[in-house]
Amino acid sequence: MNNTYYGKLIFELSKKGRVGYSLPKNEFATYSTTQLPDHLLRKSGTILPEADEQTVVRHYTNMSNNNFGVDTGFYPLGSCTMKYNPKINEEMAALPAFSALHPTQPASTAQGALKVYYNVQQMLSELTGLSEFTLNPYAGAHGELTGLMIISTYHQKRGDLKRKKIIIPDSAHGTNPASAAVCGLEVVEVKSLENGRVDVEALKPLLSDEVAGMMMTNPNTLGLFETEIPEITRLVHECGGLMYYDGANLNPLLGVCRPGDMGFDVMHLNLHKTFSTPHGGGGPGAGPVGVRKGLEEYLPSPHVRKNDAGQFYLDYDANSLGSISSFLGNFTVILKAYAFLLSAGREHFKLMGPLAVLNANYIKEALKDVYELPIEGLCKHEFVFNGLKDKSTHVTTLDIAKRLLDYGFHAPTIYFPLLFHEALMIEPTETESKDTLDSFIATMRTIAEEAAQQPNVVKTAPHHTPTKRMDDVKAVKEPHLTYKSYTA
Ligand SMILES: *Cc1c(COP(=O)(O)O)cnc(C)c1O
Repeated sequence: MNNTYYGKLIFELSKKGRVGYSLPKNEFATYSTTQLPDHLLRKSGTILPEADEQTVVRHYTNMSNNNFGVDTGFYPLGSCTMKYNPKINEEMAALPAFSALHPTQPASTAQGALKVYYNVQQMLSELTGLSEFTLNPYAGAHGELTGLMIISTYHQKRGDLKRKKIIIPDSAHGTNPASAAVCGLEVVEVKSLENGRVDVEALKPLLSDEVAGMMMTNPNTLGLFETEIPEITRLVHECGGLMYYDGANLNPLLGVCRPGDMGFDVMHLNLHKTFSTPHGGGGPGAGPVGVRKGLEEYLPSPHVRKNDAGQFYLDYDANSLGSISSFLGNFTVILKAYAFLLSAGREHFKLMGPLAVLNANYIKEALKDVYELPIEGLCKHEFVFNGLKDKSTHVTTLDIAKRLLDYGFHAPTIYFPLLFHEALMIEPTETESKDTLDSFIATMRTIAEEAAQQPNVVKTAPHHTPTKRMDDVKAVKEPHLTYKSYTA
């Protein structure tokens, strides 16, 4: 592209002496530009770029155009539920009545905000079949840590101090073992069967009076429903452990079934996946944690409750595990979830899960003759291919992901889960139209043809993006994170 501003750093556009303002010589007697005392006046120039306003605007606008987001195109990132976020949610979160609140103002003056908070707690309880929710955790992993702390606190309060082991399936998201380790628990891995589900027979010998509980993701990271849940929860409860549900992937089950009804004791949700909040750039999230009846007192504080007079207040329960965030967590994310829940309503919420499942299966069936599908059958919200069916081309999953960028699609999740060599994990979500799914399918088929006929085109992709293929290893070994080190 022949654009002066395109792909340039603002430092490269800098011209000595260029400014984005021109202050008039002051003519008014009441105001003088020489008001500042001499010792406060800058004596030498800054090392900031010097540019006029127009250059700055074009620079940042061009940069924003180089970005790929769910607002620019299809983003089928498996495990991350990148669904479209309705803009009304942003408008609601920006309302001054909410955005101008101060976190330390008395609860009596923030009743509206606390009502939103309380209502979201209640709605999540209804959707999941659990008794009570905290919205304080900042993310899914933070919710896992909070949930595991609730499990640990429960065992400790009962004087059952031996329980330090947590069982986690080999297909689990990496945050599960990481959160368990941060919580001071010892991770015990349980294997999956060929069909991708937890192996109940492999679980049995792991159970003992040292087991604090078991974490399960459902549908699991292969997009499969864990069919043995009733037996697994029975076994873990029988040995005195609690069942933890990683609900980051709850999207396909919305309106279909509830973790509380399956016998789970503690769970987390990702508001920034299932309940619509832009994510992917490390922005604010929320990982609410729900518990079954009997565990409510251990929830973190403060907890929002309603008294008999209908007033909302902050509760600091004596048995609470304590504070896990500043104030009540990321309130704007909760507001967006509330707007999302209300605008969808019960009847549309019931459609989200089934449509997410339909879209995933539609893509899977349309591509499984050219991409290798290691586990056949109906999937839930996502599925995993193991690279191209024809391995003779030596075109890898990484090559396919890079080539998709040339065609204007965000790449799916690649090389996760670790169960297959060339994992390519696709999650379309329910918000995409059939037209989008069809054009993605056509592109994936085109890439498969290219791989067979001109593999080099795929192996050297991307060709049409602002930056070409990265040297991943070098980027890790020699990260240039500032302009100075870039030019040095
Ligand atoms: C995304 C995800 C998490 C972690 O959520 P974060 O908000 O990124 O911390 C945990 N488990 C599963 C299954 C996930 O998909």
